[in-house]
Amino acid sequence: MNNPPFHDPEHGQQGSFLRPESETLSEKLLDGLRTSVIFFNTEGVVLRTNASAREDLHANEELTGRRLSELLTLACRNENILPGMLARFEDGLTEEVELPRDTFMRTTDGNAQFFVVGGITRLGDDEFIMSFRNTVDELTQEYMLKMALSSTKIFPWFYDMARQTMVIDPRYFDYTGIVSPDCTMSLEQFADRIHPEDREAMFNAFDMQLHGSHYPYPVPFRLRRGDDRYEWFEGQSTYLGQVEGIPYRVVGICMSTQAHKDIEDSLRAARDKAEQSDRLKSAFLSNMSHEIRTPLNAIVGFSNLLAGAESDLNTGDAREYAALISKNCDHLLLLVSDILDLSRIETDTMEYNFAAYSLGQILTDLYEDQMTAVPEGVDFNLLLPPCDVMIETDIVRLRQVVGNLLGNAFKFTSRGHVDLGYTLDRESWTVRLFVEDTGRGIPADQYGKIFERFYKVDSFVQGAGLGLSICKILSERLGGRIDVCSQVAQGSRFTLALPLLRQGKHPISNILNHE
Ligand code: ADP
Repeated sequence: MNNPPFHDPEHGQQGSFLRPESETLSEKLLDGLRTSVIFFNTEGVVLRTNASAREDLHANEELTGRRLSELLTLACRNENILPGMLARFEDGLTEEVELPRDTFMRTTDGNAQFFVVGGITRLGDDEFIMSFRNTVDELTQEYMLKMALSSTKIFPWFYDMARQTMVIDPRYFDYTGIVSPDCTMSLEQFADRIHPEDREAMFNAFDMQLHGSHYPYPVPFRLRRGDDRYEWFEGQSTYLGQVEGIPYRVVGICMSTQAHKDIEDSLRAARDKAEQSDRLKSAFLSNMSHEIRTPLNAIVGFSNLLAGAESDLNTGDAREYAALISKNCDHLLLLVSDILDLSRIETDTMEYNFAAYSLGQILTDLYEDQMTAVPEGVDFNLLLPPCDVMIETDIVRLRQVVGNLLGNAFKFTSRGHVDLGYTLDRESWTVRLFVEDTGRGIPADQYGKIFERFYKVDSFVQGAGLGLSICKILSERLGGRIDVCSQVAQGSRFTLALPLLRQGKHPISNILNHE
């Protein structure tokens, strides 16, 4: 081993032999450094090290006088880059060579190995210094933070006071689709992306932070993403240090809370649905008890009359009682069948059989069947267009929907007319069946409600309030949609829009009789 210039053979300590004052001072200074330094000469022989370097390299023995290349390797992408770095100084011009990122320092005795940042600098003609810092702890923290953040939608940011710019985690831009090549946003750009209703609260909090009043609470806001959709976020910030009452730097996170909001919304919807079900159950029980009891009372009453007072009854009365019993039985049957239908709709067990039918024929049959139900003083008209069409539908369900609409029209109309018919919209290949009456009408604010279960505009009128809700669902299952237009005391028009075909066959074949 070469003896170095300052070797003290007695103590085996670098520079302690007849060292001048300045030498002691510089050594103290070096040992006080947090950065590790190794001085070496052109031959790569170590001249001096500081305490931090000896600690990092776990040096149990003297390093001075040993060759740097025998002492350690610098691995980068599986290659020892130390010889190459030293060779770059051979031109006599290179002043400094930086260690590439992710350089791994390993002592040849295997005692120490760690990631480093640093470099080699020329100090004079024959002297160089390698300075480095063990970054294992930093990297560990960085990777841990990265790993933790990568599985979240939390994005760190800081506010660069000098440039008045927000510097945000690049993941934020990937996630939101907002474009910023250098991952920064001015406050104006950021404000522009915040929903106008949330801007004030957001900037009040930020302003407090900027002026050194700590505001530790999360601030919810909606952010306009790159695709212009708003997404819920929550921002939180704090500041580092203060210089004359002004924070040195404001740092924070913003976190997407959209998933929580969505869960909140679905839970709220589920709660509302449960509450509605509860209300519906009560409405169902009260409606049913009334709707069942009324016809049952009539049936029992008139049956008793028929059975008990046989001798006093003339045939006309008997017929009238029998007709009333039959009418109330029909009510009960209709009620039971509505309830069964509703239950089948709820459990999705209702079957639909689609086939092609002449729409004109379906409506003509219905018209004839319903003739007996037309109230006195009301005209019942069938208004068919000159050409008929074939429609692919479930005839039982279509008859049920139109039958229900006619039943309501007759129930609520005591004079004028009830019209049944359809029009054809050739552009959209849709037919619009209509049932129009000149009855009592429906207030406009009730249009939506009458399609809800158990809803009746007038609770004194007979009916369980189920008919239209069933009609609405059945129409949708038939691929159509039901609408109402009405005026109080003038009448109502219910329209059922249905596609001619379920699948994309050529609609022209549906027209039966061209004009
Ligand atoms: P119901 O089965 O009891 O007849 P619906 O669901 O069919 O109940 O109708 C709900 C409510 O809508 C009725 O109670 C009535 O108030 C109103 N309604 C429905 N059709 C008409 C109509 N043609 N004219 C006036 N009101 C109507």
